[in-house]
Amino acid sequence: MPTDLEKLVELQQVDLELARLNTQLAAIPKTIARIDAQLASARKRVEDARAAIKAGESAKRQHEQEIQSLNERILKFRGQSSSIKNNEQYKALLSEIAHAEGEIAANEEKILELLMKSDGLQTQLATAEAALKTETAEVELQKAAAEKAGDADRAAAAKAQARSQAIRKGVDETLLASYDRILKSRGYAVAEVLDHRCTACQFMLRPQVLSNVRAALEVVLCDSCGRMMYYLPEHNVKTSTINATGIAHQAEREWMFVPSMGTSGAFVVFINHKGNATMKAYDAMTGEAIARRVEKNAICQKIFADEIRDARNLFVDEPNLEDKYKEKLPIEILDDLRHQLPKA
Ligand SMILES: [Zn+2]
Repeated sequence: MPTDLEKLVELQQVDLELARLNTQLAAIPKTIARIDAQLASARKRVEDARAAIKAGESAKRQHEQEIQSLNERILKFRGQSSSIKNNEQYKALLSEIAHAEGEIAANEEKILELLMKSDGLQTQLATAEAALKTETAEVELQKAAAEKAGDADRAAAAKAQARSQAIRKGVDETLLASYDRILKSRGYAVAEVLDHRCTACQFMLRPQVLSNVRAALEVVLCDSCGRMMYYLPEHNVKTSTINATGIAHQAEREWMFVPSMGTSGAFVVFINHKGNATMKAYDAMTGEAIARRVEKNAICQKIFADEIRDARNLFVDEPNLEDKYKEKLPIEILDDLRHQLPKA
């Protein structure tokens, strides 16, 4: 891997981490608002209790004023008694006074009710205030934890930012510009090649492209997703040892050109699936199916080791070519496969 590409791989790790931290940091105000919102109902219970107490007090004042004006009216009635001329007027006056006294009693009754209710409301307010206090303490703890996490993220982001800038200084500007462009449009810019595939988009590389990526003389872009590709030999050794020792669980297929088969070589697909190894061969000249072997509890790499030894990889983008063309490969596919062979 050229040093610039190596740097871009690290840069991408740092940049992705930085982006993750920034997203996390941007979410903190929302988190805090959500935590605060937990207090809303506790606050409302306090406010409701206060409002009810206030309403009770104002009702009580109204009744008191009412009583005061009734008393004044009674005094006025009594003042009129000297000017009374007959028994009927006297009776009427007494009746007015009795009526006013009745109203006073009714208002006093109401005040008593309000006083009794007020005790209940005071208890309610005290309970609501205590609950709000407890919940506020809990919320403050949660907020402090969120802010502390934010501080840690901010410190990590600053560190990542510094590292990103340091790496960027050492990378060719043109390369850096395309890295930034791909990163912006695709989420990430550098992709590893594993098992002949671009791990970002799973596109199978043509043999020539694969060998260019391996040679790493220049930065090679994936034909499918446009990302910069790199190849680590140590990662690609691993898959072949697994294949050689165990039986593959998932279907795994590989198209190859086998020079020892057919009139002048054959296009052969090797399939490991559910413990069975299948080989299907088509003559490279005519495209005719010339051989099909299925071995139970076997893997191609072992059972067909002789055929695979001199074979070379082919790129086939259609997944089940051999099912579609059981008897003969069509000419356009033959052409495509032949083009992948070195010129004789
Ligand atoms: Zn790709």
